[in-house]
Amino acid sequence: MTTNAYINGRSVAAADTYDNIDPATGLPLGEVARCTAEHVDEAVAAAAAAQPAWARTRPEDRARLLTATADLIERDVDRLARLESEDTGKPLSQARTDASICARYFRFYGHAIESYYGQTIPLSDDLHVYTRKEPFGVVGSVLAWNYPMQLLARAAAPALATGNACVVKPADETPRTSVAIAELFSQAGAAAGLLNVVTGVGAEAGAAVAAHPGIAHVGFVGSTETGSKIAHAAADRVAPVVLELGGKSAHLVFPDADLETVATVATKAILQNAGQTCSAGSRLIVHQSIREELLGLIAERFKKVSIGRGLDDPDLGPLVSAKQQDRVRGMVGRLTQGNVLVGGDVPTDDGLAGGAYFAPTLIDGVDPKSEIAQQEVFGPVVVSMPFETEEEAVALANCTDYALLGAVWTRDLSRAHRLATQIEAGQVYVNTYGAGGGVELPFGGFKRSGYGREKGLEALDAYTETKTVIVKL
Ligand code: NAD
Repeated sequence: MTTNAYINGRSVAAADTYDNIDPATGLPLGEVARCTAEHVDEAVAAAAAAQPAWARTRPEDRARLLTATADLIERDVDRLARLESEDTGKPLSQARTDASICARYFRFYGHAIESYYGQTIPLSDDLHVYTRKEPFGVVGSVLAWNYPMQLLARAAAPALATGNACVVKPADETPRTSVAIAELFSQAGAAAGLLNVVTGVGAEAGAAVAAHPGIAHVGFVGSTETGSKIAHAAADRVAPVVLELGGKSAHLVFPDADLETVATVATKAILQNAGQTCSAGSRLIVHQSIREELLGLIAERFKKVSIGRGLDDPDLGPLVSAKQQDRVRGMVGRLTQGNVLVGGDVPTDDGLAGGAYFAPTLIDGVDPKSEIAQQEVFGPVVVSMPFETEEEAVALANCTDYALLGAVWTRDLSRAHRLATQIEAGQVYVNTYGAGGGVELPFGGFKRSGYGREKGLEALDAYTETKTVIVKL
């Protein structure tokens, strides 16, 4: 079966297609329309035609449509989760959670838009000054393959709530749930053209979205290299960009932490979605006095992990593609210093042949300056480094170009707050990690993890421009 684009409320084919590969087997799941710049033109034209009337609707009406979409997504959680699990390889229960979070984005922004106002500014008695929050018009999104449904909703729900129309380019590997959600939005009663999905290849359809003169704002999730290209293309026409480019997030573990909890949470923080999570906790910065004990507890957990195809709902599914598997294997293979305590290669268990699997991998004593300690692996691989003093721990936490998340594990409240200030990151957790989707929590990076914020109420600001009106009375 072919996955077509969804443009102006209908399914649109392309002259060329490519195979959608099942990462659990390496075999095709079907074909995908390989859209061209002309398809992007068509989608932008449809969005531009639909947007002005949409922007004039009452927030109450937009709220009703967004929450009705959330209802339909919730109704279809099983169907969507299956598509997502097949496309990405992720365990079915994680895909179900993703579908529920996708619905939550539509519901949250459906509710939020009813209380999103401008300000009045009391300048002087003879001036009436107020601000209006106006949509950009047509906004574009180029998305990654790791959380396809969540990423679509995280961009489209606040953009639509604030009166924009959307053109979305899902990742090459994972197009099906994006198309399904656009269809559900139409089923909920949306006008044709408000949410368009252009399937295809990054350098073609993705580049056309980034460069399109009719797209007034671009959101991107993916690698730093592609993010930089997108930002250049948008800069040529001075279009604002939100970039979410991943991380190398660290747990800082002090001797007074509850080590059983750290081990359980840190295991989930790297193995969820096979480590292909921008906010994965991929570095352990551990006080020397508890190093052996903590790594032993994590190793125990890693060894118990079940591995298999996503639809069988194991603890760990395959990576998204053979390309990603090669990348992870290459980075672990280039290790120059450190002990591989668990894993380190492609598992050879029965039933995994042909799939893009990688074993849960724990490596201790890596060189903090080495590739594996600095670069995003995007696989189930966590590296550990010891420290003696709090200053050393902070220096290690901040020694990569990335700065997306951080976690401090300690019972000392003063230390926790002090380090929350000192860690360079868009989110800092204390004695926990991750927030189950964190729809309500502003999210984005410092440094090379990107710029701009998504999620929470801040996303409403990201998708609007403020106009100030000054009236002489
Ligand atoms: P990528 O950045 O190349 O792809 C992300 C999106 O950008 C996809 O939709 C792709 O089609 C599109 N794209 C690719 N080239 C483009 C171009 N020239 N112009 C416009 N759009 C383009 O990511 P990848 O190659 O699939 O993965 C490589 C690495 O990126 C991963 O190993 C991982 O480290 C990182 N990554 C990070 C995230 C994250 O959430 N931060 C997500 C995916 C990948």
